[in-house]
Amino acid sequence: MGMSGKLMVGNWKMNGSLAANASLLSDILNGMAGVSCHAAVCLPAPYLAQAQSLLAGSALALGAQDVSAHESGAYTGEVSCDMLRDFAVRFAIVGHSERRQYHGETDTVVANKAQRALAAGITPIVCVGESLAEREAGQTEAVVKRQLAAVIHTNGHCISEIVVAYEPVWAIGTGLTATPEKVQSVHAVLRAQLQAATAHAERVSILYGGSMNAANAASLLDQPDVDGGLIGGASLKAPDFLSMLKAASR
Ligand code: PEP
Repeated sequence: MGMSGKLMVGNWKMNGSLAANASLLSDILNGMAGVSCHAAVCLPAPYLAQAQSLLAGSALALGAQDVSAHESGAYTGEVSCDMLRDFAVRFAIVGHSERRQYHGETDTVVANKAQRALAAGITPIVCVGESLAEREAGQTEAVVKRQLAAVIHTNGHCISEIVVAYEPVWAIGTGLTATPEKVQSVHAVLRAQLQAATAHAERVSILYGGSMNAANAASLLDQPDVDGGLIGGASLKAPDFLSMLKAASR
């Protein structure tokens, strides 16, 4: 399912420097022989120009970690999709749980960001996921369905052009991972929801994110509805990220 082949995306979050990025990107690029999955890295906005030039002509695509829901104008501090396009940005994470949690992003804001990205030709990676309290209250499916429903409602038939990332909030950066079976069952729910919304749901890659690492990637990627991964911490170490790219290339 999803685009043909798995999609592995590194989310660097607020990490990096000119020197560190140059060495991490060159270590990744130098290790990509034998990698046949799709791969991307999402960098902090100030480093997109640097990454664009280092990644030019390579098989590693460039992504951003957020986009503005607005087109242009009086939105101090925000970065528009057209600006991202100037740096050959192909993907943008929208609705990461850290944005929802620390910046108050609602389902509607996230849906508008996805719409803005699609209109600019950037593939939004729409993050959904339940908190620990929601999981313990048995609300996992209801929460992720509500989050995805907002994006479907706003984007109509364009929904087949998005990427979805299922990221249980309690698994992000904690070292805790959902079991492959639980991940698969949530992904199947999301797939069914997409199928009800579009005849082209098979085009949508559904990624898993949350403490994915070199040791657990293969068992997660083996699930039928897991089309790839969104990787935070482990994407900052070239050997780990490369081993996950290879797990996704089997
Ligand atoms: C993320 O932030 O998208 C993520 C999955 O982080 P980590 O891999 O560090 O849990």
